[in-house]
Amino acid sequence: MERAPLLELQGIRKRFGGLEVLKGVDLRVYPGEILALLGPSGCGKTTLLRVIAGLEAPDAGRVLLQGQDVTLLPPERRGVGFVFQDYALFPHLSALGNVAFGLKGKDRLQRAQKALERVGMTLFQNRKPHELSGGQQQRIALARALAPGPKLVLLDEPFSSLDAGLRAATREEVRKVLKETGTTALLVTHDQEEALSFADRLGVMRGGELLQVGTPEEVYLRPRTPFVAQFLGRTN
Ligand code: ADP
Repeated sequence: MERAPLLELQGIRKRFGGLEVLKGVDLRVYPGEILALLGPSGCGKTTLLRVIAGLEAPDAGRVLLQGQDVTLLPPERRGVGFVFQDYALFPHLSALGNVAFGLKGKDRLQRAQKALERVGMTLFQNRKPHELSGGQQQRIALARALAPGPKLVLLDEPFSSLDAGLRAATREEVRKVLKETGTTALLVTHDQEEALSFADRLGVMRGGELLQVGTPEEVYLRPRTPFVAQFLGRTN
């Protein structure tokens, strides 16, 4: 791919006490693509997302967004939206209030309504989070992340708390919204099937290292290491 990457990670390292959680991660994410980071629990996926979001400073390495070094910028100045695993909606605010919360300007409510419409939640805009199902809360969280028009959204295990029946449908809807809005997304999951069906490309991580990045087909058919093959279920 010759296009300029939207996000570029160069040699990202992070240590917590004696534990090296990220051991020099390089990655390029291109405009409009959905890239899934896949790997077992504890391999550093969430930490990597937090470094990209600016919630965690790397010990070494750089984060570039559209070619600009944002390694030292605070989260709110990066133009990155994120959806946490537990959605982290404000319990006392309505769905509309949650989506409008971070927006500025006179038209913030209209923009929040538009974001809710995109995820099919217009009818639920006055409900509080506890009056919504897991899948509905997930969509509100996505609307909130997308409402400011971020360059990039980071999704940390966004479907993991949904039951299996709801998961595939929600995933499909989220994929549609990302593609319709042309939003670039980086998703973290430990679910092979999810990564293979949701992402345009995937990266397999293990112990703080990114072992392989490629299309689901490339990674599945031509795993670079025995671990990648085994993790994708090739040897089962
Ligand atoms: P994953 O998302 O792949 O499950 P994480 O990035 O959450 O992995 O965690 C990687 C490792 O770093 C784990 O061993 C975890 O316990 C450790 N870790 C994550 N955050 C912290 C922190 N703030 N302080 C100390 N250790 C942490």
